[in-house]
Amino acid sequence: MNNTNDTETTYLNFIHQIIEDDLKNNKNDSKVHTRFPPEPNGYLHIGHAKSICLNFETAKKYKGKCNLRFDDTNPTKEEDEYVQSIIKDVKWLGYDWEDRLFFASDYFDKLYEHAVELIKKGHAYVCDLNADEIRETRGTTKMAGKNSPYRERSIKENLDLFARMKNGDFPNGTRTLRAKIDMANPNLNFRDPVIYRILHSEHHRTGNKWCIYPMYDWAHGLEDSIEGITHSLCTLEFEDHRPLYDWYLNNLNNVHKPQQIEFARLNLNFTVMSKRKLLELVESNLVNGWDDPRMPTISGMRRRGFPADAIREFVDKIGVAKRENMVDIALLEFCVREKLNKVAERRMAVLNPLKVVIENYPEGKTEMLEAINNPEDKGAGTRQIPFSRELYIEQADFMENPPKKFFRLSPGTEVRLRYAYFIKCNEVIKNDDGEIIELRCTYDPETKGGHAPDGRRVKATMHWVSCENAEKATVRQYDRLFKVENPLADSEKDYKEFINEHSLDILTNCYLEPDLKKFKPGEYIQFERLGYFIADPDSSEDNLIFNRTMTLRDNWEKILKQQEREKNIARKKAKRKKNR
Ligand code: ATP
Ligand code: MG
Repeated sequence: MNNTNDTETTYLNFIHQIIEDDLKNNKNDSKVHTRFPPEPNGYLHIGHAKSICLNFETAKKYKGKCNLRFDDTNPTKEEDEYVQSIIKDVKWLGYDWEDRLFFASDYFDKLYEHAVELIKKGHAYVCDLNADEIRETRGTTKMAGKNSPYRERSIKENLDLFARMKNGDFPNGTRTLRAKIDMANPNLNFRDPVIYRILHSEHHRTGNKWCIYPMYDWAHGLEDSIEGITHSLCTLEFEDHRPLYDWYLNNLNNVHKPQQIEFARLNLNFTVMSKRKLLELVESNLVNGWDDPRMPTISGMRRRGFPADAIREFVDKIGVAKRENMVDIALLEFCVREKLNKVAERRMAVLNPLKVVIENYPEGKTEMLEAINNPEDKGAGTRQIPFSRELYIEQADFMENPPKKFFRLSPGTEVRLRYAYFIKCNEVIKNDDGEIIELRCTYDPETKGGHAPDGRRVKATMHWVSCENAEKATVRQYDRLFKVENPLADSEKDYKEFINEHSLDILTNCYLEPDLKKFKPGEYIQFERLGYFIADPDSSEDNLIFNRTMTLRDNWEKILKQQEREKNIARKKAKRKKNR
């Protein structure tokens, strides 16, 4: 399931297996054409990324095409803002639909004509029951439904009423167009499903041209058909709709018939993913908009500092299957760290500053020291960082009365300042409340670059910045938005009760090495020892704002390493047994 070459050639997911069989049989003239069909009623989330990657990567793998199509058949919830955000997000993920950006609303005339065709064939009728009555007469899985009293209307009357529905002669909800199939069918989707409803509502693209709008099942298959889609990939909840998808196309003349294939949607722990719930979080100001870095939206993840290729790698790792499961968000975080470790340059930043004065360092002197930009990438080179008498270190790196295993700075111990010198703390200065406000230290001029000529060692290397040259910044630290693995597990409780009230921590008194001023919004960076960060879109040279993408290590890495260790032990045991 991963990306190594040998598995790629041997392992095919079930969808690609179907496609390869189709290609062998020369089905669809051996063409592959997929589509990603979002409804523009919200921003895209990580679940959509799975569908986007699957559709575009499948097209790429088989030298086919993938369309971006807005499924904009519901005028009341859709907005142009969503359309624009979706276009931006799919592009950012690295995919190109070339000239194939489509809108379902562009097919409204064709969908209408096909509905007329169904009526003429006696396969559809205008029904005067309202929504409640339709529901009540639908029956249940154990009980057949009842035929509508309007079911036997003549074709002529149906054509006339349907035209008048279209012309706006009737109020909302008073009539529908329904397929005439089978009110006793065990598949409830076959019980005379509604094809069109009356809705006097303005549409973001067609304006007031239409006051009837097509239902999903009717529209979706036809949209696929019109675009010549060969494999229509969708999530499992549409499995029961597939027979209807096929029925509609089979009852129309001269239409292309795509094949619908369902796969399991992505579920992530510590996350809610339905657009309705995400909209609720936005509207109730529990987050700061759709692109809040805590949101599982693509735009939120981008702002949080997740690289697009880490998201693609994650989708590749989870694979495609028919069975629903819950994916550990730590796997996504792992992919992000792996990627950032390679590409993010290292810099020093102090988020909770404690002042250090090096008493034996000359006042007014500044010297430049060489620092490595990225040990994982030699090509990233080095830079010069200023060192001077007054520095900031991290508050957490000092303890006046340290416990046994605390190796960082404390009175009398020696530590290394990264790329600089060894220092020792001689005196602790406190304010009237007894809080530590400054440390008086000395440095060893012989240890420049962080190594002692006499070979003596220190147990800690700490980051620091020079006070005089530091840039002040705001740093936003983000944590998971929910406190529990499954915020939807308890049906008695609202998922919003599980929001992590500590998921955003804003630090306004941070100091950065001067080079960080150059970083533009969107550039990835590692603050040494602290984690991965990214300059926020609102950041500017006069108002530096960095977002913490994540800390450097996590449990997932520990788990993987532990598994590796266990495997090694098992391997050694097996070997020993064999040798005995
Ligand atoms: P939501 O359920 O989050 O509101 P949706 O399914 O209504 O999303 P659409 O805009 O209709 O959102 O989805 C576009 C495409 O993305 C569909 O093909 C849908 O199957 C797919 N998709 C949506 N959510 C997921 C998910 N969690 N995992 C995989 N694919 C998904
Ligand atoms: Mg949907």
